[in-house]
Amino acid sequence: MSKVMIIGAGGVGNVVVQKCAQLPETFSDIILASRTQSKCIAIAAGVKEKSGITVRTAQVDADNVPELTTLLKKEQPVLVINVALPYQDLTIMDACLEAGVHYMDTANYEPLDTAKFEYKWQWEYQERFQKAGLTALLGSGFDPGATNMFTAYLAKHYFDEIQEIDIIDVNGGDHGYPFATNFNPEINIREVSAECRHWENGGFVTTDAMSKKASFTCPEDVGTFNIYRMYHEELESLTLHYPSIKRAQFWMSFSENYLTHLKVLENVGMTGIDAVEFEGQKIVPIQFLAKLLPDPSTLGPRTKGNTCIGVVARGLKDGKERIMYCYQISDHEACYKEVQSQAISYTTGVPAMIGAKMMLEKHWLEPGVFNIEQFNPDPFMEDMNKHGLPWKVIELDAFDLEK
Ligand code: NDP
Repeated sequence: MSKVMIIGAGGVGNVVVQKCAQLPETFSDIILASRTQSKCIAIAAGVKEKSGITVRTAQVDADNVPELTTLLKKEQPVLVINVALPYQDLTIMDACLEAGVHYMDTANYEPLDTAKFEYKWQWEYQERFQKAGLTALLGSGFDPGATNMFTAYLAKHYFDEIQEIDIIDVNGGDHGYPFATNFNPEINIREVSAECRHWENGGFVTTDAMSKKASFTCPEDVGTFNIYRMYHEELESLTLHYPSIKRAQFWMSFSENYLTHLKVLENVGMTGIDAVEFEGQKIVPIQFLAKLLPDPSTLGPRTKGNTCIGVVARGLKDGKERIMYCYQISDHEACYKEVQSQAISYTTGVPAMIGAKMMLEKHWLEPGVFNIEQFNPDPFMEDMNKHGLPWKVIELDAFDLEK
């Protein structure tokens, strides 16, 4: 029997619950806990109607360690799947340690008052998880998550030495709104407006946000898109765990329309994270903006098109240079048909379920704090093919984003 507690009933939480419920032999008892219980109840009702599976629900403030610890001790799940917000990572890890429960997440910790995401805070839990005999699996979404697995898989099967990686995240979907974000607006805007960092010859190089643009043609007729170099958290762990990497860059596609809206919002101060006084009340501009924007979990029925996310790796095999590309394409409408969610939540929620499955099936269950690429990628990659995220590896003759 494997009881899991999923924390966070947002867009990603909805997908994780549904995908776990599809595998009752692995996830025999599912509890969905979040700040707003009515959202948990609505998701559980959908699962019941579709599959007859009962998902229990609970209300919890995951910022409150004693409250969460009490709930965990009462329910005694084997594992917590954290798909709340990055702000809750440390308090959830604390509660897992107190209650003796394994932990996993999809996004690294970010302090509420500093728009800077780094692994250092979570890596500091290494000794505590080791001593407790518990596993903390970090970053089991798509990026980070599947992209780390693609890198590990390519390194294992196609290279003797991996030297350069370009992670390319294209969302060719259109939801028809002038401006909306595909996942939590506050986290998304903080991420895309942060200064860019990429890895070059042993250190991070900092450049202005969105200052480097390239054009990328996706395989399988997904299309050609403008992509922009930005910082993303897997660069930190991948360059640590693959020290042969000399250059690592992360790119994401944005439409001109999205970038124009973002610039205007930045220029007028709407993306600020410091509280301002308004008519006797303290308001954080980005939180107010997030309230006005469409809820990402409502984008599903309106979004058409594909995502194409992958890793291009350059390196050596038998003394010769080669370039390999591992990618996954998802169709927004097909995702919606299966779980009533657009592809961004889907492509995050499926790897979260698979990461949890790897732990429950004990493929990946060592005491300590681990980034996903530290484990064997093969069973994870196999499960991606089985559970809705089929991928491909192709060899490229040439690859140059500078052209
Ligand atoms: P949403 O905003 O849709 O959902 C977040 C959920 O967490 C909400 O239900 C929210 O509750 C709940 N929550 C927030 N604070 C607390 C708290 N203190 N206690 C309990 N519950 C809380 O976000 P998404 O579903 O879009 O994203 C979820 C996570 O997935 C984020 O961490 C995001 O960064 C990550 N992500 C990772 C990706 C990857 O590829 N690795 C890609 C996309 C997202 P309420 O309903 O009350 O607001």
